[in-house]
Amino acid sequence: MAEYLKKHPDQKGFFGEYGGSFIPPELQAEMDKITDAYYSISKSHDFISELRSIRKHFQGRPTPTYFCKNLSSRTNGRIYLKREDLNHTGAHKLNHCMGEGLLAKYLGKKKVIAETGAGQHGVALATAAAYFGLECEIHMGEVDIAKEHPNVVRMKLLGAKVVPVTHGLKTLKEAVDSAFEAYLKDPVTAIYCIGSVVGPHPFPMMVRDFQHVVGVEAREQFLEMTGELPDTVTACVGGGSNAMGIFSGFIEDDVRLVGVEPSGRSLKMGDHAASMSYGKPGVLHGFRSYLLQDEKGDPAPVYSIASGLDYPGSGPEHCMLKDTGRIEYTTASDADCLDAFYSLSRIEGIIPALESAHAVSYAMKYAAENPRKSVLVNLSGRGDKDIDFVVDTYGVRE
Ligand SMILES: *Cc1c(COP(=O)(O)O)cnc(C)c1O
Repeated sequence: MAEYLKKHPDQKGFFGEYGGSFIPPELQAEMDKITDAYYSISKSHDFISELRSIRKHFQGRPTPTYFCKNLSSRTNGRIYLKREDLNHTGAHKLNHCMGEGLLAKYLGKKKVIAETGAGQHGVALATAAAYFGLECEIHMGEVDIAKEHPNVVRMKLLGAKVVPVTHGLKTLKEAVDSAFEAYLKDPVTAIYCIGSVVGPHPFPMMVRDFQHVVGVEAREQFLEMTGELPDTVTACVGGGSNAMGIFSGFIEDDVRLVGVEPSGRSLKMGDHAASMSYGKPGVLHGFRSYLLQDEKGDPAPVYSIASGLDYPGSGPEHCMLKDTGRIEYTTASDADCLDAFYSLSRIEGIIPALESAHAVSYAMKYAAENPRKSVLVNLSGRGDKDIDFVVDTYGVRE
């Protein structure tokens, strides 16, 4: 394991001044237990070899790294994709859900609990629960349940119980509160499984470690294909898990790392979700990070065409690496995202998730401006889930 990964976070779960654990004492006791268990179990030979086997035989890893010859030939640069869209269930989220599920099994837990916004994390966790024979309880705002019908049906088919959350704005933030409450009532038989590199310690570290496989594979594959490392690696940043997964594989190399956030419809409050670019340090959901805030210092309303990116904060590790300058952050708008969505579909035959299309958009610009340089994109998911929305709203572009 890279020296960097051993050094961060520190013993208390801080990445520099970010992260940590700002939660009630009764929850802290549970988090401490999970942290201790994670440090010992995840290093054991049995755990490592079982996870390796699951990745190979159930998830279909390694996923390929692919050279976009058509898209590249229209620019002067070279664009490569790490194909997490080909991971089972069609996105990178299963990487950490299978890790969390396996940890639950080793801890003797009977049940996994989580929140979901658009339903992507809920589907990935329900898949892991089915595999491990665990009960699965997913908390979801009523507004999201109405909007994301196919994912609700998927979760139910996979055997999960979907708990509608009916208070407040009835979306992701309330779903997190509700899931934490349910977990606190039953911390002995259940375990909370978070959906990104966010939340109190040890989650940002655990999720990063489970996603690290993406970066390790991509680095090896890229070297094998080209005999060199990429000039730039890029990924979209919501909570930041797919980005930390691929970036962590290159963190000790002389490779530029660029996170792409959604600038949405405009830079007015409520029209975007670019927390790394425009946020200020604050605490939400038990950890300290850059946070988009309103005048009162409360979490600002956020928006992106890609529902997986609309969270007012980002993982603490991103915040530290922004401050040190190791990772650069930029933005792509809804319009940029759609251009990339249509282009990759039409030119390469790959329909990307709207989240991933933000990173593809950056790569297309980079390739146009940087002759002969190479850019590797983490294609975090496939776009099947977005097709109906895009076509109903924007049509099929010629
Ligand atoms: C959820 C999701 C994201 C955003 O989450 P991160 O933790 O920032 O990776 C990105 N892409 C896809 C396909 C997703 O489902």
